[in-house]
Amino acid sequence: MISRLTKTVPDYPQPGISFKDLTPVFADGPALHALVQALVEPFAGQFDAVAGVEARGFLLAAAAAYATGTGVITVRKAGKLPREVYREEYVLEYGRAALELHKGDVPAGSRVLILDDVLATGGTLSAAAKLFERAGVHVAGFGVVLELGELRGRAALAGHRVRSLMRL
Ligand code: IMP
Repeated sequence: MISRLTKTVPDYPQPGISFKDLTPVFADGPALHALVQALVEPFAGQFDAVAGVEARGFLLAAAAAYATGTGVITVRKAGKLPREVYREEYVLEYGRAALELHKGDVPAGSRVLILDDVLATGGTLSAAAKLFERAGVHVAGFGVVLELGELRGRAALAGHRVRSLMRL
C-alpha cells in the first residue's frame, strides 16, 4: 500500500536527488491508520511521549500519540520555538540544518519514540536523538515510513531500535 501510493519526483529539491513524496500515503485514510499502528506496535508500553520531526514527522507523531494516549513533542527547525531550546546542528542529504527542542517539554527520565517520514542518511534522526539525550530523556526507538537503504541511515543510528515500514 505504501509503495503503491508513494510518488517519486526526479531532481527534487535539486538535480540528482530522487525525492520520495509520501503525501499521497498520508492522504489515504486506511494507509495512514495502518502505518501509524505499525510504527507504534513494536514499541508498545515502552514510551511516554511521541516526538515528530518538522514537518511531516508531526503528522505521524500526532496520530501515534493520539492513538496511544501519550503526548506529542515537536522537534523543530531552527528559530521556530519561542522559549529556551536545546539545539543540534547536522548534515542533511542536501545541505546543513539545525533542530531544536524546547527545554522542559519532556521530563528527564521519561521515554520518547521519535517518528519521521523518511530515513535517508540518518543525520536528522541522529540530531533529534541527541536533543532528547541532552534533556535526560531516553530514546525508546525510531519509526519511519520509508528507509532509503543505500544512504545507510540505520548505521548512523546504531545502538537504537529502528522500525521502518518500507525499504528502498
Ligand atoms: P536524513 O537526515 O538524510 O536521514 O534525511 C531525512 C530527512 O530528510 C527527513 O526529515 C525527511 O523528511 C527528509 N528527506 C530526505 N529524503 C527524502 C525523500 O526522498 N522524501 C521525503 N523526505 C526526505
